[in-house]
Amino acid sequence: MTSQIITGKTRVYGIFGYPVEHSASPLMQNAAFHARGLDCVYTPFPVSADRLGAAVAGCRAMGLAGLNITIPHKESVMEFLDEISSEAKLAAAVNTIVNHDGRLTGYNTDGKGFLRSLEEEAGFRVQGKTVLLLGAGGASRGVAVQIALAGAKKVIIANRSQERATAIADLIEGHTEAAAGVTELTEKALAGVVPEADLIVNSTPLGMYPNTAEMPPLPVALVTDRHLVADLVYNPAHTALLQQAKAAGAATLGGLGMLLYQGAIAFELWTGEEAPVDVMRRALEEHFRIKA
Ligand code: NAP
Repeated sequence: MTSQIITGKTRVYGIFGYPVEHSASPLMQNAAFHARGLDCVYTPFPVSADRLGAAVAGCRAMGLAGLNITIPHKESVMEFLDEISSEAKLAAAVNTIVNHDGRLTGYNTDGKGFLRSLEEEAGFRVQGKTVLLLGAGGASRGVAVQIALAGAKKVIIANRSQERATAIADLIEGHTEAAAGVTELTEKALAGVVPEADLIVNSTPLGMYPNTAEMPPLPVALVTDRHLVADLVYNPAHTALLQQAKAAGAATLGGLGMLLYQGAIAFELWTGEEAPVDVMRRALEEHFRIKA
């Protein structure tokens, strides 16, 4: 634990979510403020859906310097903000707010965090690549938008409900240079697209603690050493999907890096300083009791 002295000048940041007590962000962001010697503090705020507007008004009234927004408010918070960044508009979700003298601007650092994790931790650049996304929920949408904006050649979305996959594909084709496709989330359908994919990303909760034996229906026999398989699930660090992909010879990437870098980008938006990512990673590992 980092010790924190609160002064009359302390800038207050926080996270609105419901529930919020399991969030790793307070530990990670307070460790970052401490490491940079900033007179700032970050605290969790359990905000229920019917109080979100009042809580955002409270942020303005009390001069909170910035916020993270988590489930279930990432979409609904947008109507209470003054400005929304272009990538947050496309992702239709805000996870970070900056308070510029009472003017609240919403950003989405989830997709950018995933991209930074891809580049920094796996040395993978999406430019010109074909990406297969398993799942079409909020996280998938943010990742799909950012991958397409960063120059991917094609994004294929496989989902249980086809309407959600089609909505993301339409978004990509309408607003970016990337091509898009959809398919079913079945082993048979995935067998038709795995060979053309360079990067495969699980953005469903399949495999997440405590259901650690679950995995999406990826035809692992078709996975080879030319694939990078990434999982947005970060608990456990090595999901059943990643274990099987690794055994098939693929490079793998867990979800902790996305969590880390979305927080690092938020820190940089708030403070204008480079985020101390090593300190933040250690705080996350402590939170999840993951051995480095
Ligand atoms: P979400 O909006 O609820 O979407 C869940 C997606 O998974 C939907 O496409 C849903 O399909 C699919 N799905 C759920 N259960 C399924 C099942 N049993 N079989 C097949 N498909 C299933 O959730 P989200 O916010 O996108 O989060 C998805 C995952 O990403 C979670 O595990 C979350 O922890 C992780 N995540 C990680 C980070 C990070 O920083 N690493 C950030 C955000 C999220 P339907 O559309 O058919 O319902």
